[in-house]
Amino acid sequence: MSNRTFTMIKPDAMRNGHAGAILDKIIKAGFRVVALKQTKLSEEKAGAFYEVHKERPFYGELVSFMSSGVIIAAILEKENAVADFRTLIGATNPAQAEEGTIRKMFATSVGENAVHGSDSDENAQIEGSFFFSGLEQF
Ligand code: ADP
Ligand code: MG
Repeated sequence: MSNRTFTMIKPDAMRNGHAGAILDKIIKAGFRVVALKQTKLSEEKAGAFYEVHKERPFYGELVSFMSSGVIIAAILEKENAVADFRTLIGATNPAQAEEGTIRKMFATSVGENAVHGSDSDENAQIEGSFFFSGLEQF
């Protein structure tokens, strides 16, 4: 099992001024920052990142939202990183997320849900490499 996951602080949370509070919660939960940057996805890049969802009805909305403003992308390290981070962020729909989770605290809606978290070790590796070269990971 890998000890790394990949996250993005999405445009809604950036616009709403929650980036600092979200990073604070992540670090206090025991994740070490391996790599981190502020960037902005083009529609093309957002479409490629979310390619697996291209047949879903919300794909167009998701691509347009994810390219609507700056994001923070980061690779995080912790024992059991993928599963522990999914627990920390909570359910996709903030209305169904547990109290105290990042999505419960900071998300707006099921689409504009504040943060991304990889769903498997394999995807954590693929997604981290989408944003960071090996030389940017410490
Ligand atoms: P998660 O991010 O929790 O892994 P998914 O992989 O199912 O969730 O979906 C990817 C992203 O697509 C979600 O985080 C959310 O931004 C968006 N999304 C998912 N379901 C919906 C929906 N029903 N309506 C609008 N956007 C959605
Ligand atoms: Mg997912």
